[in-house]
Amino acid sequence: MSNKELQALKERYVAAGVASPNEQFADYAKNAEVWDADGKRMIDFAGGIGVLNLGHRHPKVVEAVKAQLDKLMHTCQTVMPYEGYVKVAEKLSQIAPVRGHGKVMLANSGAEALENALKIARAATGKTNVICFDGGYHGRTFMTMAMNGKVNPYQTDFGPMPGTVFRAPYPIPYHGVSEDEALRGLKMVLKTDANPKDTAAVVIEPVLGEGGFYAASHSFLRAIRDICDEHGMLMIVDEVQSGFGRTGKMFAIEHSGVEPDMLTCAKSMADGMPISAIVGTDKHMDASGPNSLGGTYTGSPVSCAAALAAMQAFEDEDILGRAVRLGDKLAERFAQWQEQFPHVDNVRNVGPMAAFELVDSKSSREPRGDLAAAVVKKCKEKGLILLSCGMYGNSIRFLMPITIEDEILEEGLKMVEEALGEVS
Ligand code: PMP
Repeated sequence: MSNKELQALKERYVAAGVASPNEQFADYAKNAEVWDADGKRMIDFAGGIGVLNLGHRHPKVVEAVKAQLDKLMHTCQTVMPYEGYVKVAEKLSQIAPVRGHGKVMLANSGAEALENALKIARAATGKTNVICFDGGYHGRTFMTMAMNGKVNPYQTDFGPMPGTVFRAPYPIPYHGVSEDEALRGLKMVLKTDANPKDTAAVVIEPVLGEGGFYAASHSFLRAIRDICDEHGMLMIVDEVQSGFGRTGKMFAIEHSGVEPDMLTCAKSMADGMPISAIVGTDKHMDASGPNSLGGTYTGSPVSCAAALAAMQAFEDEDILGRAVRLGDKLAERFAQWQEQFPHVDNVRNVGPMAAFELVDSKSSREPRGDLAAAVVKKCKEKGLILLSCGMYGNSIRFLMPITIEDEILEEGLKMVEEALGEVS
């Protein structure tokens, strides 16, 4: 079917809230390229929102999934466990930088990982509150919706939100929130709203994903670690978007040397197969009773096979080294654009988790979401899938596969450069 026919079907049969600005339907994809239903080729700088750090259909992942399909697709691990689940748990325990030894629970999505992290934190501490950050994003279930630090579009139409969720400022010096102010804000929340004796956890993205690709400084993350220790709260890092090589390390928190109590991950964990995980200190992970954690599809054998193959590919193909080199290339190019284009400012990257902002002028720093939207639209017309993000929608973020071929990277960057020229 053509894009047009598929769009007509979508409008007739799919709930309007499941929106996409894209009327192209994906048909076939390979590494950093996607072809739509009409056969048009697009370069992919979105990677399914950070899911495809290994590129579309990484050959080793595809091979592992095919082999698993011929063996076992499902039992439900509570009915009858299988090797893939425990192997993924073993591997994650080895690579995730959590405090102590590290045990694992698998789930299906990022939101489900956060939900379970909070369940476990409540069981482990006997406390209920959670503190999150302005601009944070954690999912679309009720609890994670409440945790999101941006109201529209996530919470609009769905209120009231669950209580026990409190918010502190995320440090974004470019927009006037210094690290000191953010810390003061967190300490104030603990005084004014969320009594530490009732607060189970602080949940933070080391680099904000949907919230704009702003990185918390290492000292800020260390301060959170100290505050959590002081008050017996768990530090949970949400690495759903920043994990699996996106920042040049397996997990973004590793840059700071801080060890959280728990880490949530998903997205690029299995190159597109749905799976997520919570990794945490043994004693916390063991706090809740038998049958208190689970779900029919959690840690499906097929997703586990994909995750194991993906994690092996990270090791075999020096994906982290490639991520660092990709990040350096992006940083160099962004610096040129910042010089060249009056509206491009606050270029930033942690490895290839890279972004810049469109602002009215470098002196006013007034966010121009309209210009970011125009750049995304122009890129789409040129054949590039690109995403904006941030509280003001004025950051352009780059989530291309780490495995992108040099020529295709260059072709895509040229399109962005042209689009920036056209909106300047
Ligand atoms: N946490 C973060 C940091 C995310 O970026 C996302 C998804 N963008 C989620 C949680 C939710 O993940 P999912 O969409 O798989 O539920």
